[in-house]
Amino acid sequence: METCSCGARVPEGAGWCPVCLKQPVDPEQLLDELHDAFRKTTWAPPEALLAPGPPPVHSRWRAGPRSFGLRVKLALTFVSIGITGLGVKMFGFFFVAPLIVVTALLMRATWTRERIR
Ligand SMILES: [Zn+2]
Repeated sequence: METCSCGARVPEGAGWCPVCLKQPVDPEQLLDELHDAFRKTTWAPPEALLAPGPPPVHSRWRAGPRSFGLRVKLALTFVSIGITGLGVKMFGFFFVAPLIVVTALLMRATWTRERIR
């Protein structure tokens, strides 16, 4: 004789409780089933996500997602320095000083080393 969770006595091997019609549950089997379910749902990330990334590559000359290649950098340099030099020749250093500062900042931003990979 077993005792159902409702308190009724259930004969050994009965399919259900005669009072509440609940199926008798073997706690050991239920625990095994629970462990099985958790084992099946345990997620492991794929190897590609766990592998360390390649080391970063920096370059002043090569193009990257945030920087131009050598040809564009040279063109930017010639054009901006050319315009600034022309301005100095025409108006003198004093009036072109702000443009010289802007050109210097542009050149610094253009030629600084950037991460390319
Ligand atoms: Zn019962």
